[in-house]
Amino acid sequence: MTPTIAKIIWLAFMVAWVVLRQRPGHRSRRTPVSYSGRDIRERLLMAASFTGLGIIPSVYLAVHFPRFADYPFVPLLAYLGVAVDVACLWLFWRTHYDLGKNWSVSLDLRERHTLVTTGVYAHVRHPMYSAFWLMALAQALLLPNWIAGLSGFVGFGILFFGRVGREEEMMMRGFGEEYRTYMARTARVVPWVY
Ligand code: SAH
Repeated sequence: MTPTIAKIIWLAFMVAWVVLRQRPGHRSRRTPVSYSGRDIRERLLMAASFTGLGIIPSVYLAVHFPRFADYPFVPLLAYLGVAVDVACLWLFWRTHYDLGKNWSVSLDLRERHTLVTTGVYAHVRHPMYSAFWLMALAQALLLPNWIAGLSGFVGFGILFFGRVGREEEMMMRGFGEEYRTYMARTARVVPWVY
């Protein structure tokens, strides 16, 4: 394992992730939205996440900026990063499989929206966000640069903490007691922990 191979692996996983999102994106877009919470705040949160998980590491790969923030490459960390990325891709696939047509990139309730509490949703109520945290962790393990490696945590952290409470409020408005009961028995992203 070399720094260049680690960078290529990061890129390959991003491409695989984009490909994985295509089909669920097309499928769920065909189901009309009955309530949308996509306001300016949501757009800014998504931009922050995209910057940290996508733009900053891509610039690092393309032109090696910011070079001053490099630290020595540790192959073992990069191997761990590959394992985390594999787990992340599996979890993304699985959450899309479980959510089906209820998925959306932002805060939307669709017509005939159903509350999913099975599959990985039986263990945590935001498993797709768990997968994003894994993606940020893999980025930190694969890219030996304090800024490009850690920007995923910052960017996705802004989206996560800025959105998760509002998403749960929206789900409580849509599903009432059913969602409250579901919340009472599940953690947010790490089973039994948080
Ligand atoms: N927060 C979830 C889903 C992310 S996708 C996760 O991390 O897995 C965002 C959309 O999923 C939201 O607009 C909401 O309408 C929908 N959603 C979130 N939790 C859901 C659930 N348990 N069942 C059905 N739809 C859900």
